[in-house]
Amino acid sequence: MNDRTPEQPAETVARLRATFRSGRTKPVEWRIGQLRRLRDMLTEHGDDLARALHADLGKSTTEAYRTEVDFTVREIDHTLEHLATWLRPESAPVPAHLGGDATAWTRFDPLGVVLVIAPWNYPVQLLLTPLLGALASGNAVVVKPSELAPATSAAVARLLPRYLDTTAVAVVEGAVAETTALLAERFDHIFYTGNGTVGRIVMRAAAEHLTPVTLELGGKSPAFVDRGADLSVVADRLVRGKFLNAGQTCVAPDYVLTDPETARALEPEFIRAVTAVFGTEPQRSTEFGRIVNERHFDRLSALLDSGRTVTGGATDRADKYIAPTVLADVDPDSPVMREEIFGPILPIVTVRDLDAAIGFINDRDKPLALYAFTESGTTRERLAHETSSGGLGFGLPLAHLTVSDLPFGGVGESGMGSYHGHYSIETFSHRKSVLNKPLG
Ligand code: NAD
Repeated sequence: MNDRTPEQPAETVARLRATFRSGRTKPVEWRIGQLRRLRDMLTEHGDDLARALHADLGKSTTEAYRTEVDFTVREIDHTLEHLATWLRPESAPVPAHLGGDATAWTRFDPLGVVLVIAPWNYPVQLLLTPLLGALASGNAVVVKPSELAPATSAAVARLLPRYLDTTAVAVVEGAVAETTALLAERFDHIFYTGNGTVGRIVMRAAAEHLTPVTLELGGKSPAFVDRGADLSVVADRLVRGKFLNAGQTCVAPDYVLTDPETARALEPEFIRAVTAVFGTEPQRSTEFGRIVNERHFDRLSALLDSGRTVTGGATDRADKYIAPTVLADVDPDSPVMREEIFGPILPIVTVRDLDAAIGFINDRDKPLALYAFTESGTTRERLAHETSSGGLGFGLPLAHLTVSDLPFGGVGESGMGSYHGHYSIETFSHRKSVLNKPLG
């Protein structure tokens, strides 16, 4: 490598593969050392990352720390605390026909060279959390930040090589051309977070090399509100969950599903909750983010007339601002219900009752998350048994993904595979079966 000719993807992968083959990344001490360095990077440069996140997405410092920097630090700490236990071989009972002296167990082997492709909406968390899982599992890793969050991509590309072992970790910045070039290479695992269209491109490229993939995708995550729920609490929690990062969150409640009477009663609660969280002029609130770019601004603006505006509706293209908006009387076939919204627009769709809600959910793609606000144990049981979604959250949106010991991932159109905590070890390792029959 020299400064004038940038390293080609094939050279990067070959270089990292040589490191992996040398055995350098396998000792648990190396893994722990890398995790500690990553933690140092986050604590020493948290403010740099927060500034980049503000430049890319208008994230407030509080939000940048809470949902990106501190989130990742917590995940590192949890991994550092438990890694030795997670990596312990697990013994398996041996059947009698192998004799009493045979033993069997499983062990986790690192996979080799892993590719992590990240999106723009949580460009620190969604790049570094898979990275730390892959390092904790003993792999070499290529990370590809999203070009749509350019300030964060540049910050990560500058900082990671200063902290991590550059013989085993490489940052490749770029857009479609660079990602396509990377995808032509042979990896031992590809971890992609983003939309399903690109997910298919990734999976096709991976198939050429029989490379396993994790696809962390999105979709429309419903929020079912039951009759009799405390609507003031429901509105507060939905507003905070939905409008975090201006609605650009993969597990954001996409739409509210409820009966007509509850829908009407929710309207004033939403108006109150939006004002309570963002004030009467959300554009001036430091806590409310901006749309990532003009293309997404235009896409979202076109969805605003899909229903009657309960609150919000204002836009300012020069500022990439769309007010926190709640829409009522929304037709299930209207544009806002046809695709994942991924912005600060919350439609309320009405159904007759729980049966109809379950039917509505099951008629559509399996969501990344399903939320329900209900006091009824029977309703919770029915939703758990009769629907399929990546995660299921009762009473609080988004929070399940902060529980490190829960696997985070989708099902069907919302993705395949999962990570966080020890599930990251499962994802980025091969669980190898071992049998030992003494020769004596
Ligand atoms: P994006 O546009 O940043 O794309 C993600 C990555 O794919 C980027 O690194 C980009 O460079 C790369 N890419 C884009 N086009 C490509 C192509 N043609 N070939 C190869 N690579 C390409 O992010 P996005 O997809 O707009 O992100 C939003 C979507 O991601 C939403 O659907 C959201 O729900 C989903 N998402 C899911 C999760 C999750 O954890 N499940 C998290 C965040 C976002």
